[in-house]
Formats: sequence, structure tokens, C-alpha cells
Amino acid sequence: DDEDAVEQVRPDTPVKPMTATEVKVNVSIPSAAERAAATGADGVGLLRIEHVILSLDKTPEKFIADNSKGEYIEALVEGVRTVADEFYPRPVRVRTLDAPTDEFRQLEGGEDEPVEHNPMLGYRGIRRSLDKPEAFRHELDAFRKLYELGYDNVEIMLPLINDAEDIHRAKRMMKDVGIDTNKRTWGAMIETPAAALSADAIAKSGVDFVSFGTNDLVQYTLAIDRNNERVADRYEAMHPAVLDLISDTIDVCREHNVSTSICGQAGSDPEMVRYLVEEGVTSISANIDAVRDVQHEVKRVEQRLLLESVR
Ligand code: PEP
Ligand code: MG
Repeated sequence: DDEDAVEQVRPDTPVKPMTATEVKVNVSIPSAAERAAATGADGVGLLRIEHVILSLDKTPEKFIADNSKGEYIEALVEGVRTVADEFYPRPVRVRTLDAPTDEFRQLEGGEDEPVEHNPMLGYRGIRRSLDKPEAFRHELDAFRKLYELGYDNVEIMLPLINDAEDIHRAKRMMKDVGIDTNKRTWGAMIETPAAALSADAIAKSGVDFVSFGTNDLVQYTLAIDRNNERVADRYEAMHPAVLDLISDTIDVCREHNVSTSICGQAGSDPEMVRYLVEEGVTSISANIDAVRDVQHEVKRVEQRLLLESVR
């Protein structure tokens, strides 16, 4: 009827431009999955599972101490499943645990968390996972279960790795719990200058993709605390040093058929989008509210590049 007709021509009806560069979406809480999927994004470029864990009110180690690891695994499976269902068969890249210790403090068991002078440079991401293999194994168990349930659109992403050795160790653990690392799609974040400068070894480590976590990459490259307002005006994702690390990594990965992506906040910034498309990045993951604009910006840049190439 008339009302339906009006509904169909509403200006916010998603019209997704076709682009060669994939445009994905970042999801921080499973309850945002429906809204994220409605953007028409090509998948989830980053699903953070910290919020699933923080909402359990107990640290992973406390679950283990209480002999309730099953409950922990089940909660992870359910959290990821909500998003994987909503997007199926579009891919959903799930990042393994990466919460600074101070964020765990409020949870039951949080009193056992190390007190760190600088948690951002401390016990987080893959460092914690490799040091606490039992908790990490349960996370990987959750992934194995998701694959058993048929969620072949789930991908595994490792945070805060510094070199290929971090990846080799994590890969061994994935295999140990029964994840077929040849069959499943998995990769690592590039969030430290060390990781970017190790791109060659990382690209040969078996990863299918790397993803630039620019929130951290900018912080560590420029030595500027991402949460310190006093230096916020000097926190520049488009700094030439950051861009060099990114573009060199893209070039190396292309040689090894490893796809490249961005899942930091800068992926929602048109200036960075232009730069990345020109450099030949495989996919860009943006905030839910930015996906439409990023899709159109990518389209504009791709068309311009095409015209320039035939001129
Ligand atoms: C990043 O560092 O860019 C990133 C996506 O991870 P987080 O913001 O969770 O550290
Ligand atoms: Mg990060």
C-alpha cells in the first residue's frame, strides 16, 4: 500500500554501492548486531569479545578456579553466535581477548589481576593469552564449538602480536584444541611498530589476513597515550610515520597473498579511507554510523583510480 511505497523511497534506505574494496563494520556488543547487519556491510571486521566477558562479572581465571569453565565457554559461544547468525554467510572476524588489566579489576576475581603502572603497555592481548594458556584454550574451545555448530563464517583475529613468533605459538594452540588452521580463516592485528616491521615473517606465518588496529598503532608509533587529553591534539592517524608502516605492510602482504584490513577508528575517517584504497587495502571496517559514508567514499576513490589508469 501507499505507506509501504513511502517506506521504500526513504532516503536512509540502504543503497549499497558495489566496490572492489570490501567495507565491513565494527561490533563491540552482540546486541548491536542487527543494527550493524542492516548497514549492508560486507561482514564484521572486528567483533570485540571483551564486553561479553566483562558482562559476566567474573574474570576468565575465576571461572577456571570455580570449576565453571563450561559456563565461560558457553557465554562466549552465545555472544559470538548472536553476531554470526545475524551476518551469516557474511564473515565475522572475532578478536580474542584484549582487555587491559585495569578493566578486569571490577570483576569477581579482579583482585588477583596484576596492578600495572601502565596497563596499555602491559599484560593484555596475545601476551596474556600465551601466558595464561588455560584461559586462552577455553576461548579457542568456544571457536571450535562455533565451527562444529556450522558457523563457518567465523574468523579468528589475534590482538597485539609483536612478531611471527607470537603467531606461531597461538597457531600451535589453535591446532591443539582441534581447530583446522588450514581450513579456517584467521589472522593477526598490526598494532605495534614491531608487528608492522615484521610484516614479512608475519605474512609467511600462515595468516590469511592482517588488520591494522590503528588506535594502538598510532599510540605506539607516536608514543602518545590514546586516552590522554593533554596530548590528544598530537595524536594523528595520518602521521607520515604511521602511513609508511601501513603502506609497507600492505605491499609485503600483497606479495604473499595475505589480505589487509583496518579495524581501528581511523577506518571511519574519509581521509584514511582515501589513502587506504589508493594503497590497495583489501577491506575497511568502520563504525556502524560511518559505514554508508565509507562505502560511498570507497566508490568515489575507486572510480577516480579507474579513470586515472585508463587516461
Ligand atoms: C585498535 O587498536 O585499533 C583496535 C581496533 O583495538 P582496540 O581499540 O580495542 O585496542
Ligand atoms: Mg588495539
